[in-house]
Amino acid sequence: MISTSKKITIAIDGYSSSGKSTLAKEIARLLNYKYIDSGAMYRAVTLFALRNNLIENSSHRVNEEKLQKLIKEIHINFKYNSDKKRQETYLNDENVEDEIREMNVSNNVSFIGKIKFIREKMVAFQREMGKEKGIVMDGRDIGTVVFPKAELKIFMNAKAEVRARRRFIELKEKNVEVSYEEILENVKNRDLIDETRDESPLIKAHDSIELDNSNMTKQEQLDWIIGLVKERIN
Ligand code: C5P
Repeated sequence: MISTSKKITIAIDGYSSSGKSTLAKEIARLLNYKYIDSGAMYRAVTLFALRNNLIENSSHRVNEEKLQKLIKEIHINFKYNSDKKRQETYLNDENVEDEIREMNVSNNVSFIGKIKFIREKMVAFQREMGKEKGIVMDGRDIGTVVFPKAELKIFMNAKAEVRARRRFIELKEKNVEVSYEEILENVKNRDLIDETRDESPLIKAHDSIELDNSNMTKQEQLDWIIGLVKERIN
């Protein structure tokens, strides 16, 4: 545990499966900060849209008109599961933590992430959660849009093949039926859509510190970020 009297905001952005959440969770635990996975929120909205048949199968076209009408019915929150020692995502009081990680959601989420009114709702909620600082949030636009004044901003990347391999191992451990090739394609597709969308595209904030962790262990990454945090809280 790192003891600190000054609370800061830590924004961790970067490419799909670059290890953002692993690093974010670990540093939040050491600082006793709140950890928020903003990607889980976009995934929960995607699951809602899929369940309501608002995304066309082959084109991934979203029925935005209907989604906008139903948006009031989408309530997302997080609860800590002490048995599983993890934070879980709830959609309208239903635990959807496992379902939002499935490939069907992964293959559609970037189409939901493009929509302006969805982003506005998510960003408002994210800012509310971070208003007292003492938060680590990971995503794509945290340092650029959600918390542009965050004291520490990290931008993570690793080779697409490395990221896909890590994700493949993670999903296999959870017994999700998926091939490495399918994940690699999904990772590359999402990166492309996230980087080229009009609304809050994935870009490195000018004051964010880049981390390519292709050849780094989790401990090396953690030691690196601890050094940066200490410079900002002391
Ligand atoms: O972080 P994760 O890979 O679970 O995010 C899933 C998707 O949600 C991303 O590929 C992106 O399309 C969207 N997203 C976003 N902005 C964020 C977090 C996630 O657009 N802050």
